[in-house]
Amino acid sequence: MLIVMEHSATQGQVDAVLETIRGLGLTPQPIPGENRVAIGVLGNQGYVDEAPFRDLPGIQELIHVTKPYKLVSRDFHPEDTVVQVGGVRVGWGEKPVVIAGPCAVESREQVLAAARAVKAAGAHLLRGGAFKPRTGPHAFQGLGYEGLEYLAEAGRAAALPIVTEVMRIDQLERVASVADCLQVGARNMQNFDLLKEVGRVGKPVLLKRGMSATLEEFLAAAEYILLEGNSQVILCERGIRTFERALRNTLDLGVVPYLKGATHLPVIVDPSHALGRRDLVLPMAKAALVVGAAGVMVEVHPDPGRALCDGPQSLDPKGFERLMAELRALAPV
Ligand code: PEP
Ligand code: MN
Repeated sequence: MLIVMEHSATQGQVDAVLETIRGLGLTPQPIPGENRVAIGVLGNQGYVDEAPFRDLPGIQELIHVTKPYKLVSRDFHPEDTVVQVGGVRVGWGEKPVVIAGPCAVESREQVLAAARAVKAAGAHLLRGGAFKPRTGPHAFQGLGYEGLEYLAEAGRAAALPIVTEVMRIDQLERVASVADCLQVGARNMQNFDLLKEVGRVGKPVLLKRGMSATLEEFLAAAEYILLEGNSQVILCERGIRTFERALRNTLDLGVVPYLKGATHLPVIVDPSHALGRRDLVLPMAKAALVVGAAGVMVEVHPDPGRALCDGPQSLDPKGFERLMAELRALAPV
């Protein structure tokens, strides 16, 4: 439930509401705003009874929130959240960020070359998977902790904060000690135990939309992280599975303006995994920024023909340079 106070409500009236909420065994969350003072009610498993609030002075409105998420919603938090990854700001009103790098860290030389190339072209964050969730067990599974070290070294060499996927709870501590942002992949979007633990670590999180997840499920997944006290969460649209098989996935760009209204968390778009083809990455990255995305994430490999993972969708350094130039040209738009 959301309790909206009258403009003229006194601090004493607000305190009485907070006390009443606590008295019901629930948790009040004051939501200061420019135009109103509201108090969110957390911790209820079902409908919150209005009766205890009915006679309290200073209340303008009681709004029942039936969605499976609250903390991520604009109702509970009207102002945009700016996520800080290293020194890089990611948020709705901020300059769009570009996260770039290989799908997987394959060797020290490969990730150093990728980092140099994306830095030179103007990327803001370096990505690279050390732990790879692959469809088949015979495919390259990533270099694990060795890859993490190479990625960290490449990030330092290029002065770029790093984003990398964590697949399991037991990897969290070590990955979080090195990474500037923890990625939870599409396949783990509803790994609720992982989400809770990721929330407890307190590092920025890049949460990718599950390949068949509705937006309600996507936001509810983010809610798990916020409920642990971490609101530094970036949402990433990466395409969903539909009946269409010509492309790897169907890029659902409508989510960007939709989520802008629904949540204060920034949304970025990953056209690489959505399209699966490098020739389509550039136009859709541009489209993502035009519809208001807070940034894009693209895969870049120094030699895509030899990539151990996702080569067909990876840009080479020249292609990435072009993408950056075309994205910059969009700035006035
Ligand atoms: C990735 O970004 O490395 C990745 C595996 O993407 P997704 O989880 O979206 O498939
Ligand atoms: Mn990939």
